Order: sequence, then structure tokens, then C-alpha cells
Amino acid sequence: MYRRTKIVVTMGPASSQPDTLRQLLEAGMDVARINTAHTDKQELSDLVQSLRRAEEESGRTLAILLDLAGPKIRIDGLPAEGPKLVPGQELSLGSGEGVDIRVRPKLEFESTQKDARVMLDDGRIELRVVAGRSSTSLRVRVIHGGEVQANKGVNFPGVALVVPSMTDEDAEFLRRGLAQGVDWVALSFVRSPNDRGPIDAVFAEEDKRLPVMAKIEKPEAVQQLDEIIEAFDGIMVARGDLGVEMPLEEVPLIQKRIISLSNAAGKPVVTATQLLDSMVSSPAPTRAEVNDVANAIFDGTDAVMLSNESAVGAYPVTAVETLHAIAMATEGATTQVSAQRRGDYSSLGLSASISHAACNIARERKIPVIVTMTHSGSTGRSVSRFRPPSRIVALSPFISTCRQLQFSWGVTPLRVGNYASTDEMITKAEELLLSHDFLKPGESFILTAGVPIGQAGSTNLLKVQRMSEAAT
Ligand code: PEP
Repeated sequence: MYRRTKIVVTMGPASSQPDTLRQLLEAGMDVARINTAHTDKQELSDLVQSLRRAEEESGRTLAILLDLAGPKIRIDGLPAEGPKLVPGQELSLGSGEGVDIRVRPKLEFESTQKDARVMLDDGRIELRVVAGRSSTSLRVRVIHGGEVQANKGVNFPGVALVVPSMTDEDAEFLRRGLAQGVDWVALSFVRSPNDRGPIDAVFAEEDKRLPVMAKIEKPEAVQQLDEIIEAFDGIMVARGDLGVEMPLEEVPLIQKRIISLSNAAGKPVVTATQLLDSMVSSPAPTRAEVNDVANAIFDGTDAVMLSNESAVGAYPVTAVETLHAIAMATEGATTQVSAQRRGDYSSLGLSASISHAACNIARERKIPVIVTMTHSGSTGRSVSRFRPPSRIVALSPFISTCRQLQFSWGVTPLRVGNYASTDEMITKAEELLLSHDFLKPGESFILTAGVPIGQAGSTNLLKVQRMSEAAT
């Protein structure tokens, strides 16, 4: 028995100590997420090093996701315990002399209409725009009050603000992350497929390229889902900000749509935020939270993500164990459902056809393991997209490819040494399957690869291989 759904764990003061990292890996953490909104550059470097040390000691494969804060608007320059707002109160918000609540970056409000909503702190505080704005500040009335704290997020639902897709701060974090060897990058507040342009420009300058995930949390992104999924390498259903920017009751259907379109495109998709929110302060989740996680898995998510639960919560390791237990209990039913799923994949190319055929043969012959020999990771992802009941073992000579595959449903990535011939490739695969106890001598596996060995090109070989008795 093994888990197919991947677990993403947001790092924070509650999770970044070496002993906790060890326990998180043991409990099943596949990806560590570093949120640059709450990290400085020195902390980023220290954390990457601690994570790599813990990864090595555990013998597991760990991906590091660098989550760039993007153009997130925040409350600026208040004491830690800021003023308490009461319903009906009027005040100013923006930038400039004498403004009550200052925000960063500086915004222009020319097109902001009277009655527009302004949400503070993930929507906990609601304000409405009243008459009397200037170009850089708004006059607002408090609808739902509460204590305002520095650095909390500010959302302007339905207002198209002029902000860059990537800030200078994001670019600096990205450069630092590339130098430190992170595996994936996520961009917050993506609004258009072109938003990955500035990231690609930094990749070009640094001569390094990583997969990039679009966080879907703006209405503009929901309107252009197909194009964004096409332009990016992975997708995150960022339900925290999405539920502030859009009517909350629409989030479940948007989640289903994002997951279904990402599955159809064969791109990994992460369901994020408040999955086990009560576990920030309680050792057990609510029934509703358990249902929410199970339903995301039924929807077809590749990965589930912890945020506050692991970053600042009291039970980060128990939260990972809880996700693991829910996934294990739910997945049996999902592979049975997906076994019935059929589609026309004729337009996808030979490599996808071979992956699809491998999954069908595995299902029909009840073959427990599909091995994909992969350099870039694309065949690992390609087999994952067809959701076979068999374990997908992706063998790559590159540790970076193995780590990047930690977002893909059902894929166990393993590093393999160099091989010069097809026979040697099969022998190496058998040795790894045996040493990890995935198969015993006499059992069969399916292998996909590209031959001749060492020649760049797509996968063109599919073999059903019986483990040789000599492999022991
Ligand atoms: C979210 O809004 O759900 C999210 C994952 O982004 P962040 O944690 O950066 O707010």
C-alpha cells in the first residue's frame, strides 16, 4: 500500500526545526513550500539547506517549492496590534500624508468606484468605498470590523488594479532560489498567461529553467483558465485569496473546473488552503475538513497542501499524518473510478500513446508497477495523467527531475545510475524495484523508454518484463 496523492507542507516557525523536518518527512511530506511573503532572503537560504540535510538523512525525495508573493497588497506600517475597526466607522486607506491605513505597494485608485468592497486579512474585515477618494487614497466605511494588523493582505474584489505580475522583490527571491537549488516556482495573483514572461526572463538571465506553477486566485485568471494552464507547468487552486476575490460559494465549482482542466492537460494541480484549518490549534480535524480533503482527491487533485496548519500550527506532523490517512482511505475508490475513464488521446503524440497503452495493459493484466525511464520527467507525468492503479516508478539519472516529479499523482521518483544498453537499463530497473521491495522475483512490470539509449527523442519502447529469478 502506498499513497498516490502528494502532500505539500508550508514551512514556518512551527515546522522548520531539524527534528520537525525529519518527522514531517517520515509522516509523508513530498514537497516543502517556502512562502516568500513570510520569509527573508537569509531565511530562504538557511531553510533550503536544512531541508536538503533532512532529505538526505531521510533517504526520501523532497521537492522545494518557492512561492513568490507576487503583487500581493498588504497593510503597511502599523504596530503589531493595530487599531480596532468598528462597523459604521469611516477612515482613509491608501498612501500619502495622514492616511489612516497605509498599503504597499502604492496604488492608483482612479478607476475604483463608490461601493466597491475592500477586504482586509483574508476577508475577515470588510470595508466599502464611499465618496471622497483621491488618486492615491480611498475613503471607506467599515462593514465588518476587527483588529487591523500590519502586513495582513488587502483585496479589492472586482477592481482591476494596475500592478506588475512580478515585483522586484520577487525577482530577487527567484534569483536566490535558483542559486540555492529550489525545484519549482509558484507565482501568486496570476491574471494572464503572459504573467510567466518576467519569470522566464530571469531564467534566461540566470541560464536556469524550472517548472512554474500558476496560483489561481483572481477572477481574471478564472476567466482565462485554458490559456493559463497551457502556459504554465502546474496549477494551484489558491482557495484563500480566491475565496476573497470571488463569491465564496463559487469556490467549490471553480476548484472542480480547475482540477478537471489540469487533469485533461496532464499538468499537476495542487488544492490549497484551509484543508485542515482547525488543526492549527486542535490535534484532530473536523468531519467537514476530512470530507473536503477526500473530495479534492475525488475531484482528481495531484496534491493537497497545508498552510497555517504546518507553518504556525500546534500540530504540523499530526496534520501531515491526517492527510496521509485520508488519502489512503480515499484513493482505492478513485483508481476504480478512473479505470473506467477512456478518452481519445490520438492528438497527444507517441510518448503519450505509449503511456496510455502502458496503463491499459497494467489494468487488464493486473501488473502492479509501471517503470518509466525519464530524463525530463515528461513520461512520468504522462503516465500519471492516465491515473493507473499500478505504482508509477519514474527512473531518472537526474535528482532535479526526481524532485520535480514529487508534484505528480502516483509517481515514485528514483534516481538511477547511467546505463549504456537496453539490457543494462532493464537490469538496473530490476535491481531498484527489488531493493525498494516494490516487486519480487517472478513478478512482472511494464517498462517504457526511448531507444537507442542516450539519443534525445520521445519514448518509443514498451516492454512487459518478468523480474528474473537471478535478480536477487
Ligand atoms: C491562497 O491564497 O490560498 C494561497 C495559497 O496563497 P497565499 O498562502 O500566498 O496567500
